[in-house]
Amino acid sequence: MMRVTLADIHKSFGTVKVVKGLDLTIEDGEFLVLLGPSGCGKTTALRMVAGLESVTSGRILIGERDITNVLPKYRDIAMVFQSYALYPHMTVAENIAYPLKLRKVPPAERDRSVRSAAGKVHLEEFLDRYPRQLSGGQRQRIALARAIVRRPSVFLMDEPLSNLDAKLRGHMRSELKRLQADLGVTTIYVTHDQIEAMTLANRVAIMNRGVVQQIATPRQIYDDPANLFVAGFIGSPPMNFLEGELSQGTFIHPDARFETGLAESRKKITAGLRPEDCRVTAPSQGRIRARVYALELIGDHTLITCRLGEAALTVKADKSAHYDMDETIGVTFADQAVFLFDTETGARIRDPRAEKSERSAALPRTRVAEPGVGGA
Ligand code: ATP
Repeated sequence: MMRVTLADIHKSFGTVKVVKGLDLTIEDGEFLVLLGPSGCGKTTALRMVAGLESVTSGRILIGERDITNVLPKYRDIAMVFQSYALYPHMTVAENIAYPLKLRKVPPAERDRSVRSAAGKVHLEEFLDRYPRQLSGGQRQRIALARAIVRRPSVFLMDEPLSNLDAKLRGHMRSELKRLQADLGVTTIYVTHDQIEAMTLANRVAIMNRGVVQQIATPRQIYDDPANLFVAGFIGSPPMNFLEGELSQGTFIHPDARFETGLAESRKKITAGLRPEDCRVTAPSQGRIRARVYALELIGDHTLITCRLGEAALTVKADKSAHYDMDETIGVTFADQAVFLFDTETGARIRDPRAEKSERSAALPRTRVAEPGVGGA
């Protein structure tokens, strides 16, 4: 178990800057998820920690040890990839034992370690089979067991579940979470899947275009997003955004009007509302007036997609909700449900009322990216 520190890491490929000043401390035993859209630089960041990619500048430490220029095999790290990278001609047991064989661990001890690791990922019965005789989920568990036997200081995982079908992915997610907690090995996990990030992580670092936007617990990221990018990236269905004008604290849009708690005026402001914070009312009583565009019964709830002019708005309603297409409805919400953003820079504008509410009182400080980097 070890703390991992990335200090001001930059990476360029030729003239293209892919990682721009990454500062990250992953605590001893922590499960940190690096989350971001395709191409944001998260895999490159992980590969630099693994030593598979050099850094352009900056330092990487494991514990107190500077490993920036240390060869991968001396870093005491085990990596699990999306492709399981198993040896097809070796049995499950031989695959798992392989790193120990390379280290010339005596056979008896090797067997003990393989059995123990296979037990942790529920593969005991399959030790004599070949990878092709197993399912995708089982193969990924072989790769995990092979990482476990090495007893590394740090696990690095790059989208390890993304080759699995949806049901198996859900199952493996909980297995992985339990396993990491039991082993207590510091883990950095890369994914573009927000659900994986939210469910697995102790803390999430959200990246966009090579820059970390926010580092915080899943709950903080959801309840207190640092900027427009984070707010729009986390949540399913995503947060609704409405562009309007701010007139002495009143948000004004042709089909919406509400007080924000700010005192100022702005030509442009973006209001954000999560679908589950919106409620349908009579048109005359809504803070927003909208036209029903489509209704989708999901099972335990109904998603109502509405239109207001060019803008779309999704309301998560009761499963019994029913409205006609093109019916005009009102939408309302609590004061503290509104998130406000600078439309140009994407920076969050904090509502002084919300600062006093329970929602933020319960939140410890979060690290926030510089304003200006979050523009979607
Ligand atoms: P994905 O989820 O699609 O893998 P990512 O966030 O992990 O995305 P990276 O793989 O880190 O992104 O890539 C970040 C950027 O760096 C991309 O624009 C990619 O094209 C570029 N890149 C990655 N490796 C190289 C390389 N060896 N040479 C040049 N450009 C590269």
